[in-house]
Amino acid sequence: MDLTLIPADVAKAHQAFASALAAAADLDALMRLKGEYVGREGSHAAGLMDLLKTAPKEQKRELGAAINGLKNAWEEGLKARQVELEAAKKRAASLASQWDPDLPPPLPARGAQHPLNRLMDRLVDVFRPLGYHVEEGPETETEAHNFDGLNIPEDHPARGSADTFYFQEHSGQLLRTHTSPVQVRVLKRLAPRIQELGGIRFLAPGRVYRKDEIDPTHSPMFHQVEGMLVGHGIGMHHLKGTLSYAMKALFGPGAEVRFRPSYFPFVEPGAEVDVRCPLCGGAGCRVCKGSGWVEILGAGLVHPNVLSYAGIDPTEWSGFAFGMGVERTAMMVSQTPDLRLFFENDQRFLKAMGGLD
Ligand SMILES: [Zn+2]
Repeated sequence: MDLTLIPADVAKAHQAFASALAAAADLDALMRLKGEYVGREGSHAAGLMDLLKTAPKEQKRELGAAINGLKNAWEEGLKARQVELEAAKKRAASLASQWDPDLPPPLPARGAQHPLNRLMDRLVDVFRPLGYHVEEGPETETEAHNFDGLNIPEDHPARGSADTFYFQEHSGQLLRTHTSPVQVRVLKRLAPRIQELGGIRFLAPGRVYRKDEIDPTHSPMFHQVEGMLVGHGIGMHHLKGTLSYAMKALFGPGAEVRFRPSYFPFVEPGAEVDVRCPLCGGAGCRVCKGSGWVEILGAGLVHPNVLSYAGIDPTEWSGFAFGMGVERTAMMVSQTPDLRLFFENDQRFLKAMGGLD
């Protein structure tokens, strides 16, 4: 190609073209080079076309041939490099997505039961061999089931709207504040058949609601497991025997229970039940605050008014009832300091609790 008619700077650029082309490492760099050489405006090719227009007539033919030769060389070079770079890009992408058949396969995350549900299921498993079946009741309850049927007096503070979620004032509809209304429902339902059944025993796990601010030990929603037994001549010794058995089944053979007198309107007598600290075995630790005992249940003998309300003759029948806070027990056993962790669904926490693989 005759470059004698081509301006010196363009000739020089042409000589550098091949190495500039090889140095274009990706498609973006190549596009910039393309603009510089053959772009519509301001490129070497555009400048040469202007030169051709103003060239003397006798030079036009030769100059035209030289310009065409240059343009073709540039265009061919650019095209070839573009094909190379596109192929390289494709190769890199396929390499990046390539799977290695020798690597172990990624394990899919498996779902598992929530620690609170697991604890409730464990309790059900503990009581099932004793003849207890599971009963459930609605979370939306009536004042009658939640309070009246449980011997809770009209002026009891728990009935106030500061403690209880009512749907509308004086509507009598509320979110149950404990699982005890299940007692009222089950007793009423089974009262007509109690002779034939020879008694009543059941477990009622469920969700309950109270107007509490959320903090490390309080939540407006939490879980309870309620248990009840009605029969002939049932006394505190039956209650104590049953709970001793259950706590051993739950916490191991070293578990021991002790009763402290307490008051709940629906039982008489009432007791708070402590279990020998399952973490230190009674030696004293942070969880039991050095006492060796942790409070775990409220319990007592069913108040005669509760039986009467449901249509069961308290002179013939008697029973016991107990209730356990599920979160509180789970927190104690797992030494979780903050109740909120159970509701936040943080996978790391659930995993640490053994709920996830
Ligand atoms: Zn302890």
